[in-house]
Amino acid sequence: MSLLDDARRLAATGPVCDACLGRVFADRSFGLTNAERGRSLRVAAALDDDEPFEGVGVADCWVCEGRCGTFDDWAERAAAAVEDVEFETYQVGTRTPPLIEENERLLREEVGADPDAGEPFNMEFNREVGKRVGRLIGADVDFERPDVQFVLDVDADRVETTINSAFVYGRYRKLERDIPQTEWPCRECDGSGRQGSQPCDHCGGSGYLYDRSVEGLIAPLVEDVMDGVDAVFHGAGREDVDARMLGTGRPFVVEVKEPRRRDIDVERLESDVNAFAEGAVEVERLRLATYEMVERVKRLDASKTYRAAVAFDEPVGADALTGASEELGGATVEQYTPQRVDHRRANLTRTREVYAMSADLDDPTHATVEIHGAGGLYVKELVSGDDGRTEPSLAGLLGVDARVTALDVLAVEGEDEPFEDDAYFA
Ligand SMILES: [Zn+2]
Ligand SMILES: [Zn+2]
Repeated sequence: MSLLDDARRLAATGPVCDACLGRVFADRSFGLTNAERGRSLRVAAALDDDEPFEGVGVADCWVCEGRCGTFDDWAERAAAAVEDVEFETYQVGTRTPPLIEENERLLREEVGADPDAGEPFNMEFNREVGKRVGRLIGADVDFERPDVQFVLDVDADRVETTINSAFVYGRYRKLERDIPQTEWPCRECDGSGRQGSQPCDHCGGSGYLYDRSVEGLIAPLVEDVMDGVDAVFHGAGREDVDARMLGTGRPFVVEVKEPRRRDIDVERLESDVNAFAEGAVEVERLRLATYEMVERVKRLDASKTYRAAVAFDEPVGADALTGASEELGGATVEQYTPQRVDHRRANLTRTREVYAMSADLDDPTHATVEIHGAGGLYVKELVSGDDGRTEPSLAGLLGVDARVTALDVLAVEGEDEPFEDDAYFA
C-alpha cells in the first residue's frame, strides 16, 4: 500500500483537515508542518487521479473537531495570561480531550496503521501553539525548567499558567546576637499570638519568639522587588541564635514564588536590604541564581571557622593553652549529641575533624579561640567537653572547666569547591 493510497483512504473516512491528515505521516520528511503534509498529499492524490482538487475546512474535521484551526487563538490567550509577567523561557503542554484521542485512534485504524502512527494531537498542539507564543512574546522554549509553563486544557477551554520560582543567591552577615536565621514561632501559642482570648504572654502577642530574623530582614524585600506571592529562605546551615555571623558571611538563597519580575537590579536590592536591616544584618554578592542553587546551598559540604570567647573556672597558663589548642588542631573529635540539642533528635556519636585551632589568653581566666572545623562540629562542646560527651576537648586537655561565653562564625566555605560556581548563576 503506497503513501498516496493511505492518504486517499484516510481522506475518505469523512472530512479530515490537512493537519489531522498530515499528522499520521509526521515522521515523513522534515521542515514541514503537518498541515503542509496533509495538503500536499491531498494535492498529489488529486493530480494522480486527475480529479478536481477539494480542500477540507478545518471546522468540518471529524478528528479534531476544528481544534487544529485554533492555534493562533490559544497562543494569543496564553500570551495575554502572562501580559504583566517578565520571563525569558516558556513551555507549552496540552491536555488532549479523550474524544479526540479516540478519533485519532479510529482514523489510524481505518488504514490499518499503528494506533500511534505519526504524531499525537498534543505534540502538534504544543509545537504549533508554542511557536506562536514565542513569536508573540519574544521568549524561548525551555523543555527543562522554563520560567513559565502553560497547559492548554482543550476540553475545559482554559489556559493554565504556572510561573516558576526565581532565585537570588547571596551571603549574609549577622552583626547582632539573638537573631534567629528563620522566623521562630512562639511555642506557647504556636505562632497565633493568642492564648484563648488573651494576647500570648510569652511572645507579647506577636506570635514570634524574636522580633527579627535574618529571613525576615531579607526575604520580604526580594519578594517585593520581584513582585512575587511568597518567599522562602534557604541557608547553608545556620548559626546559633546567640552567635554572630561575621567575616565572609553565610551563603543563602531566597526563592521567590510566582515572580512577575526576574531581571532585577541586584546591586540596588543589596543596598535596599542593607538599609532596611539597619546594621543588624548585611548582605553581599547578591546574584540571580538557578533553582539548582537551592540544593547546592543546602547540601554542599562546608567547613566553618569560629571565634569563641572562652571563660575558665581557674587560671590557665599561656603555654598550657597553646599546647592544648595545638593538640586539638588536626584532631578527630567524637561528639555524642550535646545536652543542649533538641531532645527529640536521635542521640548518636559522630566524629568531626578540627582542621586548625589557635588560642590567645586575654587574662588568666579568659581566652579568645579560633577554630576551623568540618561542618557539623559542635564548637561549644569542643570547648566545654559537655560532661565528657565530647572527646577530646579544650576543658578536658587543660583539666579546667571551660565554656564559650560568646561565639562568632567567621567563614562558611565549601570543603572541596566554592559555593559560587558560575554554572549555578542565572
Ligand atoms: Zn482536524
Ligand atoms: Zn506566643
